Amino acid sequence: MFLEPYQTLLKALGPSHWWPGDTSFEIMVGAILTQNTSWKNVEKAIHSLKHSKALRPKTMHLMEHSRLAELIRSAGYFNQKARWLHNLLDWYSNYGYSPARILKRHNADPQPIRTELLAIKGVGPETADSILCYALNLPVFVVDAYTHRWLERFDPAASRASGGYYKLLQNMVESDFRSRLKRASEKQITGHFNEFHALLVRLGNHYCKKTNPLCNQCPLKNDCASAPA
Ligand code: SF4
Repeated sequence: MFLEPYQTLLKALGPSHWWPGDTSFEIMVGAILTQNTSWKNVEKAIHSLKHSKALRPKTMHLMEHSRLAELIRSAGYFNQKARWLHNLLDWYSNYGYSPARILKRHNADPQPIRTELLAIKGVGPETADSILCYALNLPVFVVDAYTHRWLERFDPAASRASGGYYKLLQNMVESDFRSRLKRASEKQITGHFNEFHALLVRLGNHYCKKTNPLCNQCPLKNDCASAPA
């Protein structure tokens, strides 16, 4: 159900090389900052953090709230997001700011890490899963508004089956991939989840737009229930 559109998109659009970010920490910061704003605004905030040499976990953790808020102003909700970054860093410091230690302590099992992340104020399911998949390279599929919009149009029955619930849709995608890619290693599965989410974001930005989708140019038009005949 999900594997075919994934393969079609990958063939048509090519690999996405996600997530944009030089380090695991930069990806974590991006996952917090991207909430309720465009990626362009996040890029400005990341640039400002880099320029001030603040994109380092310990430096940012010790930074005054007001200074951090100022540096990330372009990402919007900057006071709230500065608090959320400090909340995330409180958790991250328990592991010496080391992704390897997180993985070691939890045996690379995404579930207990997800539970810890979701207990942090400012981290919802999409942010937690973005950190798991893109910062920690764990096999987790990230669901977002683009995913829901695409599925509503591409396969309304599957969309209804998910009921619009985050976890249900995530399970549908993950179990479809796992049941059909039985020989794939965990590393390969992680790569597929990473890529499928990235491709759906690209699809949503360039073809399956909120208004006036460009169905005639869309790589999925031959299989989409909503494409004009
Ligand atoms: S054919 Fe149209 S509605 Fe279907 S996925 Fe593509 S852009 Fe979206």
